[in-house]
Amino acid sequence: MTETRHVKVLILGAGPTGLSAALYAARAELAPVVLTGMQLGGQAALTDVIENYPGFPEGVGGAQLGELFQKQAERFGAKVEYDLATEVDFSQRPYKVVADNGAYSADTLIIATGADPVHLNIPGEYEMTGRGVSYCATCDGWFFKDKKVVVVGGGDSAFEEGLFLTRYASSVTLVHRREEFRASAILQKRAQEHPKFNFILNTVVTEVEQGEKVTSLKLKNVVSGEESQFETDGLFIFIGHTPNTQMFKGKLAMSELGYIKVNDKMETGVAGVYAAGEAADPTFKQVITSAGMGAAAAIQATRHLEALEAESARG
Ligand SMILES: Cc1cc2nc3c(=O)[nH]c(=O)nc-3n(C[C@H](O)[C@H](O)[C@H](O)COP(=O)(O)OP(=O)(O)OC[C@H]3O[C@@H](n4cnc5c(N)ncnc54)[C@H](O)[C@@H]3O)c2cc1C
Repeated sequence: MTETRHVKVLILGAGPTGLSAALYAARAELAPVVLTGMQLGGQAALTDVIENYPGFPEGVGGAQLGELFQKQAERFGAKVEYDLATEVDFSQRPYKVVADNGAYSADTLIIATGADPVHLNIPGEYEMTGRGVSYCATCDGWFFKDKKVVVVGGGDSAFEEGLFLTRYASSVTLVHRREEFRASAILQKRAQEHPKFNFILNTVVTEVEQGEKVTSLKLKNVVSGEESQFETDGLFIFIGHTPNTQMFKGKLAMSELGYIKVNDKMETGVAGVYAAGEAADPTFKQVITSAGMGAAAAIQATRHLEALEAESARG
């Protein structure tokens, strides 16, 4: 049987949230342990350049930013473990976490497992991510100044992000598999009235042509079955976001979409268990906001541990 390792602060996730929480907990001399899951650096590591994280006037590579976060946290004593948490038990303290390579007991837990954008799962999509395929208009819109972009989706986020992209792009073509949209009427009206906005309905994207940059997509009309080629410089996919929180179902309060519910101190309903970043944030979804929430969770965990210590000293 594997030995259970006890830690004061266990952090699940090594994206901007988890690594920022690690920095703060490490500087509070709590020797936090971070479990990385499958993606060290988190979603930020999937993108070529990040230009909206302060402190890097020339921008910074997504993977490089993750490495810098990690290095800074390790400098103060954080330990990063390449391990994936699979099970949690909050029924008694210290809390138990089972991971692929071992088991942990933790006085406090910071959940920073992030989220994954829903993918189309078509040929070329993964290979061209960061080369014209994107899941974030705020992050990448700027790179498409005076270029043609395609947006996929029919909900509020496809319309909101598509309208945002009209600031930069010369045209925004929304491709949707149905004839009706789920997006709110006001967003639909705004898009329909916008001179740069076009629609291709009853159509799906079936392939992204591979090369140095995105240049064209294969489309298929789902009614007629007709296939066509569509020239574009970018493909923005907004068909949903799934928080990585399945493990906490029934153990922590969550929204319908699976975001963990927290108060303004990143506290979940369980004492000493915090959730931060995209696992708990359906709204902002940025490196800076996620890092801020991670720091807040670690500050709160530190205060919680101090209060527990003071309590046990009083007897
Ligand atoms: C292609 C792309 C480009 C982007 N560009 C920008 C940009 O330019 N600027 C910007 O501000 N934002 C950008 N974003 C958004 C930004 O990356 C996210 O908002 C941010 O990474 C969220 O941080 P997070 O730490 O909360 O979650 P994530 O980054 O999703 O990290 C989650 C972490 O949890 C780990 N994990 C998951 N499950 C488990 C488990 N069971 N056990 C242990 N660990 C687990 C993962 O391996 C990962 O390390 C971009 C996103 C994408 C996808």
